[in-house]
Amino acid sequence: MGAGTLLDSIISVVIPRRCRICGRPAMREEKGICEQCLYTLPVSPSFRTPRQHLETARFFHNPPLVSANALLFYRRNNVVAELIKDFKYHSCSGLAERLGGLLAIHIKASADYLSVDCVMPVPIHFTKRMKRGYNQTEILARPVAEALDVPLSADLRAVRAHATQTHKNMEERRTGVKSDLFLVRHPERYRSKHILLLDDVITTGSTIRAAADAIFRDVPEAKISALALAMTEL
Ligand SMILES: [Zn+2]
Repeated sequence: MGAGTLLDSIISVVIPRRCRICGRPAMREEKGICEQCLYTLPVSPSFRTPRQHLETARFFHNPPLVSANALLFYRRNNVVAELIKDFKYHSCSGLAERLGGLLAIHIKASADYLSVDCVMPVPIHFTKRMKRGYNQTEILARPVAEALDVPLSADLRAVRAHATQTHKNMEERRTGVKSDLFLVRHPERYRSKHILLLDDVITTGSTIRAAADAIFRDVPEAKISALALAMTEL
């Protein structure tokens, strides 16, 4: 037993693990959300029809995406927003694992992702990663890649921190597209591949569009589907 595991066991005796949603005691492997609460999270009814989002402004892209979707509804202060805040800012990587597992279960049950060749999480800039210690989207992506039995790619890189409006260059101001936020390493690996681009939350869709721009720029023959754990309502 390593020191971390021992310490973990002692902590769990002194402070019992509880579900973050209902507050009842939870098992260690439930990673902060009990089984009952996990399946009562607000799943988007459109989850089974991922193509219906393609014409909406946030996913409109040229060339078009194959599909775009998100599993859960994200509303300010709803349970999903609270969980995401926890795994993003409060070092709860176990929660991201748990929710990635939920996403994996739903993806596996859907025929829309059968042609996916790899899962590519949207990266965060390394300064942010250093501060947070992990990229929550990468943790979400792991069980999804496992469920689809495809590789998890770390080749989409954030080349600079997201710029604020005042620092945007003229081209970005004109087009509203942040074309140089990301780049694909080893683009030759992805020629003609169907890439499942994964993010944690989609609001305006600008990050997904910027990532898709970079992939199409570096790998013009790629096919891209976009998927997120949660999305604000249309
Ligand atoms: Zn619960």
